[in-house]
Amino acid sequence: MITITGLNRVECDVYHVPLCYSVLLQGVFVPSITSMPSSSNIAADRAAGSAEWGLLPGRESAQKKQPRGFQIRPLQVTWEMTKACEWKSGPARATVRAARETQAVSTAEAFHLVDEVSSMHVPLFTLTGGDPLLRPDLFPIIEFAAARSVRTSLTLLPTTMLEDSVIGELKACGLMRVGFWLHGSTAPLHDGCSGIPGSHRRTTEIIGKCHEEQLPVQINTILSRRNFHDLEPMLELLTRLDVALWNVIFLVPQDRNHADDMLDAVGHEHIFAKLYQASKRVHFQIKTAEAQHYQRYLLQQRARESRGKLTAEEVITCAPKGTSDGKGFVFIDHKGDVRPSRYLPLSAGNIMDHPLSELFCDSPLFVSLRDSSKLKGKCARCPVRNVCGGSRARAYAMTGDLFAAEPCCAYEP
Ligand code: SF4
Repeated sequence: MITITGLNRVECDVYHVPLCYSVLLQGVFVPSITSMPSSSNIAADRAAGSAEWGLLPGRESAQKKQPRGFQIRPLQVTWEMTKACEWKSGPARATVRAARETQAVSTAEAFHLVDEVSSMHVPLFTLTGGDPLLRPDLFPIIEFAAARSVRTSLTLLPTTMLEDSVIGELKACGLMRVGFWLHGSTAPLHDGCSGIPGSHRRTTEIIGKCHEEQLPVQINTILSRRNFHDLEPMLELLTRLDVALWNVIFLVPQDRNHADDMLDAVGHEHIFAKLYQASKRVHFQIKTAEAQHYQRYLLQQRARESRGKLTAEEVITCAPKGTSDGKGFVFIDHKGDVRPSRYLPLSAGNIMDHPLSELFCDSPLFVSLRDSSKLKGKCARCPVRNVCGGSRARAYAMTGDLFAAEPCCAYEP
């Protein structure tokens, strides 16, 4: 329950809102919505990024309009808090960049986003980067989300910012889960994939600290030709590290000229079989990303294991609604652009111009992605297209056509 203990007029350095009216909610200062500054310095980027799909009309400022009603909701909203990272540009320049991005999507706007996620009853809100620790408002945002009953997960990088004490502070703020990247079971493999010497060692060390603080751990792995042979050792390592969730992201290349590391259709099928078998024996949850056709694989297994009691058609009919592109996931980039996937460089609009619910429910991009009749090639005639639909990000990267058939699916409808 949120208790309003008083109205305060405060000098607010952290939230870069000078002399804003705030409400003290369980010790968290919340800038009032009416005092939120508008951001104009990224308008040009937004216009360029959204040109293909067009912005929803008739909205000058998201803050002036209450969120509309919505009929559907995402299952997960991920916000890229910053692109800045000391590994890319050194600590000094990363700090400058993070400060610039904190002005682009301000703390007040971040609080507004948390409010929207809360009112849409989104089951999971994920914060990622770059290095989120570079944003000076990270802890207040997590605290505010906890006060709004928003379950929040945070993906961290083992940079010099990540001291052991940070984990306890995050837990105290109400963080629900912490995530790390591990692309291999050994230091040479992971450090080679990430390009950061020492990052494997530091990640496994800090996971021990997370267990001390009883903060559940998620591991994210981008699976490609470079590490697909490492699946069994990874499963052993993650068992030893006692993680709660393994998020396996199948590589989506930047474009077809950078697709050498991407697994082919047979490779995807091979990994699906291994993940399915592993999911029956490991104690942690395994989740996939950019592998919508893993759902088709699971349905096929269900039909097979029913020993003739269920036909493939019956299994498909009873299948839960898919969470494919446009349905279950929303990615908000560091400029506030709302996208169906981190790996799909198309924007439905910006959170500073439109409520998130409006972009998710009504934007031409999200609406068209939910329309399976737009799919082409074998995905168009596939009986599981409403559950699967293929990775639109991969189809777009490989063909330039958002609705082309998934290039890495071995199934022939
Ligand atoms: S053909 Fe397309 S819709 Fe069917 S399983 Fe493969 S990727 Fe999914």
